[in-house]
Amino acid sequence: MEKQELAPHVAEISRVLGNKVSEEQIAKELDTYLNLYRVSLETAKRSVVRKLGGDPNALSKGVQKKLSELAGAEQSVDLLVKVLSANRKDIEQNGEVKTLIYGLMADESGSMAYTAWDADRFQLERGQVLLVRNAYTKEWNGKPQLNLGTRATIETQPQDAVKLPEGMDVPIYGPTTAKVSDLQEGMNSVTITVKVLQVETRKIETQEGPKTVYSGTVADETGRVQFSSWHDFNLIKDEVVQIRGGYVRSWRGIPQLNFGERADVQRVKGHFPADVDLSKPRPRSIGELEMVGGAYDVVVAGVVVDVKKGSGLIQRCPQCNRLVQNKLCRLHGKVEGQYDLRIKAVVDDGAGAITAVLNKEITEALVGITLEQAIKDAREAMDPEVVKEKVEERLLAKPIEVRGNVISDDYGLMMIVSEARMFVPEVRGEAANLLSELEGSQ
Ligand SMILES: [Zn+2]
Repeated sequence: MEKQELAPHVAEISRVLGNKVSEEQIAKELDTYLNLYRVSLETAKRSVVRKLGGDPNALSKGVQKKLSELAGAEQSVDLLVKVLSANRKDIEQNGEVKTLIYGLMADESGSMAYTAWDADRFQLERGQVLLVRNAYTKEWNGKPQLNLGTRATIETQPQDAVKLPEGMDVPIYGPTTAKVSDLQEGMNSVTITVKVLQVETRKIETQEGPKTVYSGTVADETGRVQFSSWHDFNLIKDEVVQIRGGYVRSWRGIPQLNFGERADVQRVKGHFPADVDLSKPRPRSIGELEMVGGAYDVVVAGVVVDVKKGSGLIQRCPQCNRLVQNKLCRLHGKVEGQYDLRIKAVVDDGAGAITAVLNKEITEALVGITLEQAIKDAREAMDPEVVKEKVEERLLAKPIEVRGNVISDDYGLMMIVSEARMFVPEVRGEAANLLSELEGSQ
């Protein structure tokens, strides 16, 4: 075979090997198998991949089909398709949460439902044109369905490589219908029905001149979320709207609903949960919050399982408010620290844990100590740790309810607490069960 003819096969082997081996080396190996050992191209390719540490099964079998030709039992098939929709969904598998993508793909022969089993490996987006290799099909509800599993690969192709049948195209809005509690960073094409609780306008100077931002709070029965829009949809407090084409981006770590002029906002008449007071924060499980990574103004109830270092009487830099340790600010060096009270408590509700950060006012009320008293106690004992001990005595192993905004950082979920209260669990209440479970497990 001529070098030119081999080029696509060399490129394919390179892809299968994760582009870790030079094409020059691959070409040399391939040449050896073909011209010295005189094996078939198929065998040569598989041998080279195996020799260089790759998985020969990841090689294309070279069977490219149209969607209409798929029967539902293909074990390895290549397709040239356009992604009509790409929706993300979290599933639990062997105790671990993983994200998959599902939706519709189409080519000139029609469209088909698909599932890509790993959202990290397949960065699928609506409107992409792709060469999909090594997909497999299965029958689902009497129809073949396309699956992208561990062996599949995708390559982006030019937009005009796929011509869809007349009338078929990427829909402007995806079918993701969400509730407020589902919203998480990165979601696109969101359809959601909410009540407008509050709306305000702000003028902002941009490079293209002054612009108006519309923002506020909307809610459904699962919670509240802040929104922001650059387009005037004439939203009015207390009306119920269906927003299509929204997207979710984090703002200061909290998922926020955004929708622009390409979104569609319709007034919804009729029933909306009137029995739920939408202006109140909703109780949430910490496990749920871990899945979405943050939330606006929620309540969690659990047991304080740890009071972290840096709780109690602390000192802050008078210039930047950072924690001062050993009279040193990380930014300003040696400074005269100002006393403050705070608590970083780990609250566990049985489904997960969250670090709740309580400011001076909440700490004072909860622990029953003033900043002045804490300073006095620390001076008398000549040890600021006595204040932390007092906090531990009051909080550790006790049930607590905290309210606030939840964000995630490198250490997991964190709540900036706006309200906190200790509570006495009902004898048969869940918190009591949890408490006894926690005590039993120690
Ligand atoms: Zn400082």
